[in-house]
Parts: sequence; C-alpha cells; structure tokens
Amino acid sequence: MLLGSDGHLAPTIFAEMSALAQRSGSINLGQGFPDEDGPREVLDAAVKAIRDGVNQYPPGRGMPILLEAVARHQKRFYGIDLDPATEVLVTAGATEALAATLLALVEPGDEVVTLEPFYDSYGAVIGLADGVHRTVPLRGPDFTVDPDELRRAVTDRTRVILLNDPHNPTGTVLDAATRELVVELAHRHDAIIVSDEVYEHLLFDGLTHSPISTLPGARERSVTISSGGKTFSTTGWKIGWLSAPAALVDQILAVKQFLTYVNGAPFQPAIAAGLDLPDGYFAEAAAALEHKRDVLSAGLVAAGFSVSRPHGSYFVVADAAGLGYSDAVDLCRRLPELAGVVGVPISAFCHADLAAEYSSLVRFAFCKRIDVLERASTQLTGLRSR
Ligand code: PMP
Ligand code: GLN
Repeated sequence: MLLGSDGHLAPTIFAEMSALAQRSGSINLGQGFPDEDGPREVLDAAVKAIRDGVNQYPPGRGMPILLEAVARHQKRFYGIDLDPATEVLVTAGATEALAATLLALVEPGDEVVTLEPFYDSYGAVIGLADGVHRTVPLRGPDFTVDPDELRRAVTDRTRVILLNDPHNPTGTVLDAATRELVVELAHRHDAIIVSDEVYEHLLFDGLTHSPISTLPGARERSVTISSGGKTFSTTGWKIGWLSAPAALVDQILAVKQFLTYVNGAPFQPAIAAGLDLPDGYFAEAAAALEHKRDVLSAGLVAAGFSVSRPHGSYFVVADAAGLGYSDAVDLCRRLPELAGVVGVPISAFCHADLAAEYSSLVRFAFCKRIDVLERASTQLTGLRSR
C-alpha cells in the first residue's frame, strides 16, 4: 500500500522536494524545517547530557525529567493537570505518537476522520492500521470547516477524529464552533479525538492555542500530541510526546514499545529544559515567525501569487492561477529551473477530488532566515515574465 505502482517505496513528498532543492541548488521552501538553530539553553542541555553519560536506553514511557516538564508545560499554558507517571508518553517525534495511537485504537474497517488537506503520514498510518480514511475539506479562501460536512463525515463507524490545529499545510486555526462540534460528535458517536498540536506555540495575529482536550467533556476521550521539533527548532531530534487518560496511554504504549521502544535519551532532558523556558521565549518565537510569514506573503504577492493568511504553523498557501499556472504539480517540478525555489503542491496533501479542486495551490514554508525569504521572493518575481 505504501509502495508506488512500480513496487518501489515512494519517498515522501517532503524528502522528494528536499532532494530536488539540493540537486538543483534551489532555496528549499518545500520541507518545513528551520534554517537556524533554536535556543542555546536547549542545545547546551543536550551536549551536557551526552557528556554526562545520558547515552543508554531511557525508560519506556520517557525520562521522568521530560514527563514532568510536559506536565508542567500543560499546566502553565493551558491549566491542564496531568499525572506525569501515567498520563504522558514520550515518543520518537509526533510522527511516532500518531502512528502508535492510530495502530493502537483503529481496528480493520474502522473509520478515521481527518481534515483535508491532511499531513501525509495520516493517510499512510490509517492505511497501515487497515482503517478507512474519511475527510472533511477545509474550504477556501480561509480554509474553514463546513459544520454540515463535518456532521456528515462522523458516524457510528468513526473510531477516531484526527485533528491538526494549527493546521499543516493551510495554517488554519480551528474556531470555537468547530472544536465544540467535534467534541459533541465524538460523544454522540463514541469516537476518540486525536489532536496533533505540533504548532501549538506558533500562532499569529494575537491568537493563542488551547488544546481541544480543555473543552468540557473532551478530556476523557482525547489524545493530545505535540513535539519539540517546531517549538525549539530541533526537527532532527525527534522528541515528541502525547498526553491522554492513563488507560489510553497504556494502550498506545503497548504499540509504541514495538515501534521504537525508546528514543533520544540525551535530547529528552534538553527538550525538558526548553519546555521550562520563560514565557518570553515562546512569545518571541511566534512573533519572529509571524514577521517571516509577512515577509514571504508580501514577496509572493509581489511575484503575482494570491496568498492565504495563515494564523499559525510554518506555511503559507499560494495560488499560482493568476500567474497562468493551473497545475501546481507541474509548476513545483519546474520551479527550481524557473526561479531557483522549491515548494510543495497542496495536492500532495489531498485525495483525488480535492486535489483537482486545489490544483493551482502551492505550499511554501516561511520558517527560514529573512534574507533567504527575501531572496526567494526576488527570484519568484521572474515567474511573471515567463
Ligand atoms: N504533524 C504535523 C502536522 C507536522 O507538520 C509534522 C512535521 N513536522 C509532524 C506531525 C511530525 O512531527 P515530528 O517531526 O515531531 O515527528
Ligand atoms: N512536517 C514537515 C513538513 O510538513 C516535514 C516533515 C517530514 O519531512 N516528514 O514539511
């Protein structure tokens, strides 16, 4: 199921686009990873941990120093009380948290409802679990959920409603009415809410995040997933975590132990140090990224794209139709040669129907240095004259 039609493993769209950027010497606005290091305290804590001998298998649930830091973080930012010993699990990035959760909860034939476009691993892992993937489209121009479409998608066959808030690739932040409806539907149809919140600290325009598990009646049926990768610009460390009621954590741990068993011993105390950084760190990280959003968005508009206004995440969606490019897959393939820039077609995050509807849309990552975003913008202005 994960093999291409020729029987070979197809690389993910992100790996493919990063390879293209490298091969062509282009600016990589495709794969979402920062081009600058995160906070010194976090990097130093990892170096110290390695030198101090924190180099063997950590405990299966994660090191207490990180479990406790996750619990403190959820309390400080969201007022959530968690028992670090039973309600938190450390994972190999959010990717493993998602995989272990879906493999633990989804039986063959169970339905999993996600927003669409959706992050690529969702579709793949639902497939690995032999689940059935149902989607609720995010409709432009603001990529919002139509409540009737959400109501139609969730039924008694639904085992999991898998959210991503803030959302990759659209940058949408779910509104209160949508979140409340998700909780209501999860109750009505006895579904579990799995909420991927890896961009929880990267919100703009004065918005702040709050996990869906904080809504009345949500906590007992929610798994909340996050990761240190985005918040601390350490995407290569792959330290993620989830929190959920103890019984759900146990079920997920039963799978997780046979995926990676454990991971990243010296990075666990380092991410714990990050989670304990003062509020100012988190506010400044969001403000810096908001400025980058504005710089790249302005550059894309100057180049002739029309752009969405993402309220969170690393990504802006640009419509190339006005430039005369109706096929973003084709454009993204040629963009290195046309402009020395790499982006990802939104269709890579969609099933066929929505892919056709969104065929002229490209996702660009703005988690890059300002000078890089400016250079990319200048290069993209050349598209008009072609
Ligand atoms: N979920 C979303 C929405 C993402 O964008 C990403 C990738 N960055 C992940 C999960 C995976 O996170 P991690 O690198 O921590 O596995
Ligand atoms: N989350 C990143 C993105 O959306 C990439 C992660 C990956 O390459 N798997 O670009």
